[in-house]
Amino acid sequence: MTSQVVPVQDVDISSPFWSRYQQRSREKVIPAIIHAQKSTGHWYCLTWKEGHKVKPHPFWDSDIYKVVEASCYFLMMQHDQAMMANVEEAVDMITAAQHPDGYINSYYTVRGLEKRWTNLRDMHELYCLGHLIEACVAYETLTGNGRLVAPVMKAVRHIDTVFGVEPGKMRGYPGHQEIEIGLLRLYKLTGEDLLLKLATYFIHERGQRDEAGEIYFDHEARARGGDPYDHMDLEMRVCYQYPRDYGYHQADCPIEEATEVKGHAVRAMYFYTAATDMFRLSGSQQLKDALDRLWRDMVDHKMYVTGGLGAIRQWEGFGPAYFLHDTEVGGTCYAETCASFALIIWCQNLLGLELKSEYGDIMEVALYNGFLGALGLDGTSFYYENPLRTYTGRLKHRSTWFEVACCPPNTAKLLGQLGTLIYSSQPGLVAVHLFIQSTVRIPCTDVIVSIETNMPWSGEVTIRVQGTTALAIRVPSWAAKYTCSIAGDMKSGYLFVPSSTDALVHLKFELTPRKIYAHPKTDKDEVCVMMGPLVYCLEDVDNPGIDVDNVAFLDGPIRFGETTKIGPLDQVVPILATGRELEMDESSTLYGSRAWKYKEKERQLVYVPYFLRANRGGNGGMRVWTKRLPQC
Ligand SMILES: [Zn+2]
Repeated sequence: MTSQVVPVQDVDISSPFWSRYQQRSREKVIPAIIHAQKSTGHWYCLTWKEGHKVKPHPFWDSDIYKVVEASCYFLMMQHDQAMMANVEEAVDMITAAQHPDGYINSYYTVRGLEKRWTNLRDMHELYCLGHLIEACVAYETLTGNGRLVAPVMKAVRHIDTVFGVEPGKMRGYPGHQEIEIGLLRLYKLTGEDLLLKLATYFIHERGQRDEAGEIYFDHEARARGGDPYDHMDLEMRVCYQYPRDYGYHQADCPIEEATEVKGHAVRAMYFYTAATDMFRLSGSQQLKDALDRLWRDMVDHKMYVTGGLGAIRQWEGFGPAYFLHDTEVGGTCYAETCASFALIIWCQNLLGLELKSEYGDIMEVALYNGFLGALGLDGTSFYYENPLRTYTGRLKHRSTWFEVACCPPNTAKLLGQLGTLIYSSQPGLVAVHLFIQSTVRIPCTDVIVSIETNMPWSGEVTIRVQGTTALAIRVPSWAAKYTCSIAGDMKSGYLFVPSSTDALVHLKFELTPRKIYAHPKTDKDEVCVMMGPLVYCLEDVDNPGIDVDNVAFLDGPIRFGETTKIGPLDQVVPILATGRELEMDESSTLYGSRAWKYKEKERQLVYVPYFLRANRGGNGGMRVWTKRLPQC
């Protein structure tokens, strides 16, 4: 049976850890994003007039839509006059920017409408609209005033006149998926059949080939006067490995035929998120089988231990199986924040289909590691890429803004909708996916469920129920042992506790530091340290006098250090291990006859959670994986 997402406004997060992040997002992240958009002129792209200091970039519309969406989530939880004023200003700009036929896009409005829809592969018109539709769902949920539904449905009707399989329409689809998510979300809200029709079309048309084996992107390239087969033609993009490298867009074949995750990681995640929703509506087993294959390929071969995705910078996406280098040097380890964001949302959709703990495990890992560290503790700086290793002398700073600013608004979006990740519901059943201290009111029932826990610093969890319901509680794969005060049945990693009234459940998940090793094909004879869902890193700032770039991990016992304060977090639990530094010989040549040698003296290594990296200065030395030295 499928589960329903619980609305944002029905979950109150009280976890000191997470409510601080939410507060920071409300008070700092969103104002910082809007300030950056206004001061750079991005904010005014929809109302661009001759004389404005910057001309619209193809993606800027989406940044406005995304920050509107994020703001709406926070406004659902708490009124904020200034935030609401920005949202209403954006809605006014959107309404004013719409052309009489329904088209909205600032880039082509300013640079020439005659060129619209001529380059779906690269130009993001449909992508931007997808974000507008998602913003519309959030705004309508918040206000119910229909002010954004009207222009958005007009835009959707316009899309329907342009794209489709009917004679006279273009058989196109977006180069960057996103509209599929938006259409299905608005369909859930309004039930308008046109939304489902278009989402079905975009998902299934993608990658369809004609008799010559060509796809839509070939046809539109020729219509632009280009030659998609020519290595020297402008149609050969820098992100392609070879001409017509449509795997970059997941358009090299229809999704039902796809056997491996490839190409741009964010596009892939957005696509599979929507396709999972599509399966929920269509029940197509072929589609589900494809999604299962893609999931396995990603989780078993192509995901970083942090839940980061995208080993290759050139196409911001997936490399070959087991190719998971940790550093940006050489164009590897891209691990874009948006990719982890989207992975989390894909996991949420998969959990809606099936209560399987692997989906919750990956969602939790991506949340605490690949995603969370992208936001600086100052609340106003962000990472775009999240490498697992940086070197001494190359401290990787977070930025306050980017020319292509997809990541910061996604950070705010996820923190705004965090409550929806914790629980889901079915008739007579509440599922608990994440252990974040909070209370949920299950819609259309009198059931209230609360979680009390100090996760991620403690493995003890109390779940209180008011009313009558059964529970399905995820048992995380990181817990080698656990106890539960009420007997239940385990199924796919969820503990099903039978229905009772006003239940009180105590759980204790063993939370010990643990060592993680990688598959030999990754070529990493290295160790990573974790506690619960937290991946830890070795950072020079905690290890004075140790050359973090050249230290090895002595593969023996590890233990907790003393609880410490890092930034506003006062309960950080470090992990201590033992290592040895590499003996560096100044006279060594690049190649020589002497094998590596480690100093006799053992050094204590102090690890802190990876999401806290690069917040306290230091000299840039940071690593998640450390070379393993067997303990004699
Ligand atoms: Zn991004």
